[in-house]
Amino acid sequence: MAKSDVDISPQTNLRELVAAMPIAAAVLTAFGLGCSGCGVSSAETIEQGARAHGLRAEPIVNALLVARETGKVPAIAESDRVAERRAPGSFTGRAKIAHIVPVMSGKGGVGKSLVTALLALGLRRRHLKVGVLDADITGPSIPKIFGLHTPMRIEPDPTRTNPRGQPQPLMTPALSRSAIEVVSANLLTEQEDTAMVWRGPILTGVIRQFYEQAQWSDLDVLLVDLPPGTSDAPLTVLQSLGIDGVVLVTMPQALATMIVRKAANFIHQLKKPILGVIENMSYFVAPDTGTRYEIFGPSYADAVADLAQAPVLARIPIDSRKAELADAGRVEEIDDPICDALATALLDAIAAHPKEPETVSLL
Ligand code: ADP
Repeated sequence: MAKSDVDISPQTNLRELVAAMPIAAAVLTAFGLGCSGCGVSSAETIEQGARAHGLRAEPIVNALLVARETGKVPAIAESDRVAERRAPGSFTGRAKIAHIVPVMSGKGGVGKSLVTALLALGLRRRHLKVGVLDADITGPSIPKIFGLHTPMRIEPDPTRTNPRGQPQPLMTPALSRSAIEVVSANLLTEQEDTAMVWRGPILTGVIRQFYEQAQWSDLDVLLVDLPPGTSDAPLTVLQSLGIDGVVLVTMPQALATMIVRKAANFIHQLKKPILGVIENMSYFVAPDTGTRYEIFGPSYADAVADLAQAPVLARIPIDSRKAELADAGRVEEIDDPICDALATALLDAIAAHPKEPETVSLL
């Protein structure tokens, strides 16, 4: 296709545009839309991508038209690159977050963080506004999976003061390539690998701050990556955030099933719904023969779902490519139908559990 034939309008699909006109990737990156290479872009137009990033589509289309003619990335005004966010002064309370879904596991290492990221990607592909609150404070891995390294901006919140009259801090969530908002303890300092040693009460306080004192957008879904197990931190989240219900992540091991039983009891005692069970690392399909192997033993997903009294939302296979991309901070390049399947199953489960009006408030 000749360069001038490439169609550029707000309705142009991002992935197709970059395929037809490679310089478009550089233009989009200049606007902070690094998502042209990611799995979300195949489902997104310029207008949708701009909106997700809080930008106007018009300057992006104009810059792309110039690039099409000149073959160069034009200069871009700072004001066109900066998201239209609420000014701190206009932040008068909590954002309207439609659905809050904590993702929980009985023990560490079952892939809870990767599953949380895949859920977020699937929801984003449906053009929903998604945030991830990384409440796994002592082992925060969400920023690493999304390749986020720059600490969050923290400024004084003029609308809120502590009892001594000092303004409270207000955090701006980091924005991933595909415009997923992320708040994490790993984004508080430059030093990513600083081991955070928090005492219990401080830890739960930090999670509450991540919810209350972050300038979240009006999100459709906020996923909360909980610390593994049934400690005070998950308890706080389950009790004090107006959650829709919990997603339980497990893997096929008899021991994991026992631990999940404990987690399910914990959630039931708090009288919170379990939206469903996701069995990760469920099986492995040999790429050459297509044979399915149950590496960690037979699936316990149905047994776990029985004791959780909730449906199996998905079984996710072992896939080293996904792990590699996640470990390299490029999780958004995963373009896999499992993301859509996860999002569909989660949205159905949310719809099946209408949220009770909030009774507990942090304020
Ligand atoms: P958790 O949050 O439960 O501690 P992580 O999400 O950090 O676990 O996953 C632990 C490790 O397992 C990571 O290196 C991750 O990439 C890998 N992993 C998770 N799920 C899968 C999968 N389905 N296939 C292959 N590797 C996986």
